Amino acid sequence: MREPIVAIATPYGESAIGIVRLSGKGVLEIVKRFFKTKGEIKPRYAHFGVLHDEKGEEIDEGILIYYKAPHSYTGEDMVELNLHGNPRILQRAVELFLGAGARLAEPGEFTKRAFLNGKMDLTQAEAVAELICAKTELARKVALKQLHGELSKYIRPLRETLLELIAYIEADIEFAEEDIPTLTKEQVLEMVEKVLKGINELLKTAKTGKFVREGIKLAIVGRPNVGKSSLFNALLKEERAIVTDIEGTTRDYIEETLQIKGVPVRLIDTAGIRETEDIVEKIGVERSKKKIEEADLVLFVIDGSREITEEDLKIYQSIKNKERVVVVNKVDLPLRANLEIFEGEDIIKVSALTGEGLEKLSEEILKKVGVQLEESVNVYVSLRHEALLKKAKEVLERFKEEYREKEISPEIAMLDLREASDYLGEILGEITTEDVLGKIFSTFCIGK
Ligand code: GDP
Repeated sequence: MREPIVAIATPYGESAIGIVRLSGKGVLEIVKRFFKTKGEIKPRYAHFGVLHDEKGEEIDEGILIYYKAPHSYTGEDMVELNLHGNPRILQRAVELFLGAGARLAEPGEFTKRAFLNGKMDLTQAEAVAELICAKTELARKVALKQLHGELSKYIRPLRETLLELIAYIEADIEFAEEDIPTLTKEQVLEMVEKVLKGINELLKTAKTGKFVREGIKLAIVGRPNVGKSSLFNALLKEERAIVTDIEGTTRDYIEETLQIKGVPVRLIDTAGIRETEDIVEKIGVERSKKKIEEADLVLFVIDGSREITEEDLKIYQSIKNKERVVVVNKVDLPLRANLEIFEGEDIIKVSALTGEGLEKLSEEILKKVGVQLEESVNVYVSLRHEALLKKAKEVLERFKEEYREKEISPEIAMLDLREASDYLGEILGEITTEDVLGKIFSTFCIGK
């Protein structure tokens, strides 16, 4: 068991209950020095008691729960103290335990220990952080499935197939003289093909996975008064941006999050990218330009009730290198804009005023960025998984070519398969470095 660590597991601030958590060697003894209860402390029982300091002065009363290794979150001995949610009380408790030999936990250290002690694999550990910061119901569901090991269920058999192949080839090398069953070339290729198919299926979920986790960054551009703010508000279904008849009042970009079918969408309402002399507005315009560069998708809004202007066209030109949708707003009024210029574009007609066409626009937004929400898919891989899957795919495809075309030595074949299987092992955390772990767990909150 590792050295004892301690952290406050609940958010800072006043609340009904605050939790102080400990894990590691001798944590029960540490806590018992400062927590008086009646009778013996039994694992997994809630014990009411009083927390006091070194001199016996009472600090608070609360509930102690003891989890005995290996039946705990971290797999080590753990103690959780439920106290009153006053930062001073929780801080005092932590200080007492620090003085008694525990040290402050690093971000994610409890989960890191759970991983190191084999309570969960790396995809599950990652899911803990994702579950905590999931911004939508869909993101929560996806994280929970991954926490339950759904992604590992896909990856593990692929890796096992590769390991099986390696074992066969190894036997081939070692017992070349003897008459032992080996795989035919076709059988080897078939097995590799099966793994590649599985990898490709997972890779298909990467784009959706990225957007479900991080949200789609959406920029709304167009000349003043075409209805950007109104559209923004209509999509947000709440009045947040300033809607006004005076030109150029959306001085700064405003970012808000909404969701489309559970996919978070981070809206960037821009001040329009027209030239301006107004210095305050200029800052807004510059920033907006930068934001547009970052956007995954641009909604280019025009006023359908008016003719297309030079300014419209100028803005249109400036976003032509971006993924975009042409939004013709104000279709509740007679159409006056000549839309021929936008031939070949995806055009969606809407009214921010009546809500007409907004549903279609929402669907188009998901379609444009490549989000595919399928009921049958249980997992969406993350950027880290995607990168490793791509590497494994690359190696296996190279192997396939070489193996089919020319005779490659079993030693070389084995190296390739080993490399690919290692990449899959890295996803699960079966093969990993301190660096990778450090990077993953540093994004966690303290106490988790
Ligand atoms: P922005 O400068 O592009 O952000 O435009 P605003 O959202 O401030 O809208 C400019 C004006 O157009 C406001 O008076 C809105 O009420 C009006 N407007 C916006 N959308 C619509 C629409 O769909 N139909 C009609 N009839 N008026 C709209």
